[in-house]
Amino acid sequence: MWRAHATDPELRRRGSSGGVLSALAAWNADTTGGTGHAVAGCPVQPRRTVPVTITSKQEALAAASSRYAPVAAARDVREMRAADVVTGKPCEVAAMRAMNDSESPLMLSFFCAGSPSQDATDDLIRDLGGEPEALRRLWYRGDGWPGRFTAQMEDGAEVSTTYAQSWGRALGPSVSWRCRCCGDGMGESADLVAGDLWETDDRGYPSFAEQEGVSVLVARTQRGHAAALAAERDGAIHLEPVTVDEVLAAQPAQVARRKLLWGRLLPTLLMGLPVTRYKGFDHVVQALRRPRAVRDEVLGAAARLRRRGYDWAGGRIRPVLARLR
Ligand SMILES: Cc1cc2nc3c(=O)[nH]c(=O)nc-3n(C[C@H](O)[C@H](O)[C@H](O)COP(=O)(O)OP(=O)(O)OC[C@H]3O[C@@H](n4cnc5c(N)ncnc54)[C@H](O)[C@@H]3O)c2cc1C
Repeated sequence: MWRAHATDPELRRRGSSGGVLSALAAWNADTTGGTGHAVAGCPVQPRRTVPVTITSKQEALAAASSRYAPVAAARDVREMRAADVVTGKPCEVAAMRAMNDSESPLMLSFFCAGSPSQDATDDLIRDLGGEPEALRRLWYRGDGWPGRFTAQMEDGAEVSTTYAQSWGRALGPSVSWRCRCCGDGMGESADLVAGDLWETDDRGYPSFAEQEGVSVLVARTQRGHAAALAAERDGAIHLEPVTVDEVLAAQPAQVARRKLLWGRLLPTLLMGLPVTRYKGFDHVVQALRRPRAVRDEVLGAAARLRRRGYDWAGGRIRPVLARLR
């Protein structure tokens, strides 16, 4: 694990945190002439996010930063397997890894709290006084760390808000239930995974004060480790060691999600909804270690699901209970 950032100031500034993932994609294009895959704003409909191919630093720069909206980064599997580097959400790289292909590309991912809905983007632009249909460009973050949500209209006018407001109030709350029940927020299947290395205050809350971007970079495979060191040797990224405790302190929400996962999976299952099977995530053991916190999570998750119109065992238990009464 490293504290990391792109050495190129433009990539560092434009990237979501330290610009490391974009620097790795640009480095791959420069050194091997290889192709990468990532996502970016759609040139035709800027509020949409689409998969893109990266063959140069300029393309990596255009695709840099987080897009908090739905997109299938791993849409064309054949094309993806032909690439040298692929960047995707943890669920997308997990799907690619499950194909168990020895020819697989180097898989880059990021810590992920889930994909917000497209409507959340459109509503936020409207709330800020902009017009989603008249958009020229849209940045969810970047241009600093964390940078601002900024929508630029065709007539040059701009509306923007802070990361805390855009993610915390508008985008984050629209994350799907599937994402809320995800145990893999830290990219277990990737070769290399990056996240925000937030500084935290005395109470453990991350600080979103603007500063130069810093990512945590985690090598999860020998191949990822070798790639990170090679990119550092070639001067593409800067790496400094960081401890596991520092990383966990910067990511309290990801830590809680991992420990309490069963508290969300259980009511989801009991309400007759499909759940993802997580092998090797130890979520039952984690739950047994903190029964009260998991009970609260179960009750909270059940209440949320009921508000969405779901019922225990898909509504099959209610008639049985009524007959018993
Ligand atoms: C939906 C979402 C949720 C996130 N949740 C967290 C979190 O909980 N904690 C945390 O620390 N970090 C989270 N991040 C990641 C964080 O915002 C940064 O991406 C990460 O810190 C790496 O930064 P970087 O500057 O090194 O990457 P960059 O250099 O900015 O590169 C980011 C790469 O990710 C690709 N990308 C952007 N959006 C998407 C997308 N929606 N789907 C697929 N690929 C995409 C870009 O094309 C680019 O290649 C999230 C990102 C997204 C998109």
